[in-house]
Amino acid sequence: MVRDLQHAAGRAAALKLAETFGLPAFDRGWVWLAGAGPGDAGLATLLGLHAIASADVILYDALVNKDLLKLARPGAEILFAGKRAGQPSFKQSDISQSLVGLARKGFRVLRLKGGDPLVFGRGSEEALALARGGIPFRIVPGVTAGIGGLAYAGIPVTHRDTNHSVTFITGHGAKGSLPDVDWAAVAKASPTLVLYMARSSAGEIAARLIAAGRAGDEPAAIISNASFSEQSVTVTTLAGLGEAAQSCTTPAIIVIGENVRLREGMDWLGAMGGKLLNPDPLDHSHFSKAG
Ligand code: SAH
Repeated sequence: MVRDLQHAAGRAAALKLAETFGLPAFDRGWVWLAGAGPGDAGLATLLGLHAIASADVILYDALVNKDLLKLARPGAEILFAGKRAGQPSFKQSDISQSLVGLARKGFRVLRLKGGDPLVFGRGSEEALALARGGIPFRIVPGVTAGIGGLAYAGIPVTHRDTNHSVTFITGHGAKGSLPDVDWAAVAKASPTLVLYMARSSAGEIAARLIAAGRAGDEPAAIISNASFSEQSVTVTTLAGLGEAAQSCTTPAIIVIGENVRLREGMDWLGAMGGKLLNPDPLDHSHFSKAG
């Protein structure tokens, strides 16, 4: 009961913030494609919260933090449209058709996805289906796991001394196997690689990168449940990545590159638990002392 009241107050606050900042109204017959961020409710955007608080129908994915849905209007229809372990996932075409159909009925339809809707989230396919159907839509970006999840592990996605570029890659091709990526080119050109959906293909990807000249002792990290309270981080090497990934839980984001070393100095969550930070994590003499 107290919680219900809190959520009602939270919903009112989300609507008030939308008004304070002059955010766009969520009109009937519109679809908003929004990202919920990687996990921590604090990483949702104001537009995202406003959308949750205003929608008549919410279709959400498995990776969305369910607490956010408690801000929905009483009576809003909240539908799961993601993948459940061991069960067939919803067909993309069915989801797109539902969005079109619900919008045509005049509902305010929120399609809520984990992270950012346009990063390996098929949000673009849904947007194109809406465009084909003549349905007006808005896209609300979110904090993607490959950036925000790294930040919660104390790993900067770029750092001047380690990498001037970063490449985001999915571990799953459209047909289920390794994606169609020129691994040798990526190995050469991109000092930092961030892999989504790559837990089971991590070993194979690591082998290809090593075959193309990347060092086996290059650091890598696996961040499971990034930014959720169950977050866990495993630091390993490129050579050890496949095996380390086997024992990690999903969802997991993988990062390969020298920037992983910065975690020694930037693991702010660990520091809250008493971990001592090394303010000079790239200093090799320091490293050898630390063993
Ligand atoms: N649109 C999402 C990505 C969807 S693909 C985004 O922008 O983040 C799903 C993959 O995202 C997962 O397999 C995992 O690799 C990654 N992912 C999403 N949320 C995560 C989290 N909280 N922790 C770790 N990885 C996550």
